Amino acid sequence: MSRKARKYVFVIGGVMSGVGKGIATSSIAKIVQSRGFSVNAVKVDPYLNVDAGTMNPTEHGEVFVIKSGLECDQDLGNYERFLNKDLQDDLYITSGMIYQHVISRERNLGFRGKCVEAIPHIRDEIILRFRRTVDFNEADISIIEIGGTVGDYQNIMFIEAARVLKVEHPDDVLFIMVSYLPIPQGLGEMKTRPTQNAVRQLNSYGVQPDVIIARSERALDKKRKDKIAVSCNVPADHVISAPDVESIYDVPLNFEKDNIGEMILSGLKMKARKKTNDLSRWRKFVSKSKHAKEKVSIALIGKYFDVGDFTLSDSYISIIEALKISAYTLGRKPELTWVSAGEFEKNPRMLKKLDNFDGIVVPGGFGERAVEGKIKAIKYAREKKIPYFGLCYGMQLAVVEYARNVANLRGAHTTEVDPDTPNPVIDIIPEQKELLEKQKYGGTMRLGGYIALLKKGTIARKVYGSELVEERHRHRYEVNPEYIERLTESGLVFSGTSPDRKLMEIAEIPRNKHPFFVGVQFHPEFQARPLSPHPLFTEFLKAAIKN
Ligand code: GLN
Repeated sequence: MSRKARKYVFVIGGVMSGVGKGIATSSIAKIVQSRGFSVNAVKVDPYLNVDAGTMNPTEHGEVFVIKSGLECDQDLGNYERFLNKDLQDDLYITSGMIYQHVISRERNLGFRGKCVEAIPHIRDEIILRFRRTVDFNEADISIIEIGGTVGDYQNIMFIEAARVLKVEHPDDVLFIMVSYLPIPQGLGEMKTRPTQNAVRQLNSYGVQPDVIIARSERALDKKRKDKIAVSCNVPADHVISAPDVESIYDVPLNFEKDNIGEMILSGLKMKARKKTNDLSRWRKFVSKSKHAKEKVSIALIGKYFDVGDFTLSDSYISIIEALKISAYTLGRKPELTWVSAGEFEKNPRMLKKLDNFDGIVVPGGFGERAVEGKIKAIKYAREKKIPYFGLCYGMQLAVVEYARNVANLRGAHTTEVDPDTPNPVIDIIPEQKELLEKQKYGGTMRLGGYIALLKKGTIARKVYGSELVEERHRHRYEVNPEYIERLTESGLVFSGTSPDRKLMEIAEIPRNKHPFFVGVQFHPEFQARPLSPHPLFTEFLKAAIKN
């Protein structure tokens, strides 16, 4: 039986990066999904890294881990949050993956003596992978975001592959350009010229955009809409005004005002289906977020905070969104503050600053920088009974703190920081040790979804409301089994473990001793979504609100 036609929307950036192409892609995907279609959202990253795992989050943003364990660009996180579903390996494509595959095939005589070249072999491999994106879960359509901007050398091959798909299937491929209209200071007037040039550049590749999303500080007026339409060869109602908005979650609702859903469906000759109520649930969530007035203030403690012009919000995007989502659900406005752990090392009196917050989070991290400051902050949260939520490294360091200061394990530490500690309460898993010794870093951590078994009568069990949960991981170190008895005797509860009970997944202090002190070895933030907030984040914020 032949498959129904695969449909594609390619989202391409014009003028410059950083104007919200990822959110535009997520929003388009959401809108099409709300029309009753099964949608996959796809990120193409033109870099040669095979995946995002080896990249520094302070330069490239968060490394998002999907269920399979693949380490992806942060946009996959946006897609999952908007679409409210798990995405899979085929939906993240890098030049590194394509070249690695084609070259290894060449080494294995897979091309039977032919000369292997970018055209056709790289291009055709890309086309093959584009097709596969729709095949995953037998979707109706893929919304494919091509990283970078028109005019980059790196993404040309992907645009070329998309062009060929359009030639072969004219009714099944649509191009959307997300462009930018600057308003130069002093002029105060919105300029369309860069967009015109970007479209011309795209035209020179043989591609004509069907829709132009005009990002700008302000809404687009009719005059400029018409100007873009005439000069860029698109109907005026296909130019979407996309002004800056307060919250990224407004974007699908804004796009719908310009009828982008109809435009895409009719452009792809897709028959409208019954709408789902997903967008109305979305609307409810957005309205709740707007009406939240009373604050809940959270301190996020880490080391990545003194890095010049890089926006921290990118390196911790999933945590920020998880906190926002849960806060809105509770009718509160989250106030998130970055606190550098380094300052607690220099001056422990600074810890008093933490009294100003309703709750404290120590997120994931690597290496020794600012670790002692983080441990001091955790001790403060434990002793002063400030709600504490530790994520991955934040859990490991909470165990270190507890070991040192409650279980009296002198000099306790993680061997990641102090390999010679007398009490290695956090230690590397043996298989991980071998990989590290061989200097095999890419994609070698304990990655992706693993099941945790939750213990009766604990906070974790109560909050999740089930005995088994699956959460996503990204770490090399673990609570050392040799110390579990000692830590448990001194009052720390390991409320979540791997099903064989060997690996500790959740550590907590019981409710009668602390309002909320929970550390998780995994990254719950990766599964928090507007239409399904994460129960642990919600519970942490409830405790913070009470505080
Ligand atoms: N550095 C720690 C480890 O490798 C924690 C990692 C993390 O926080 N993601 O186990």
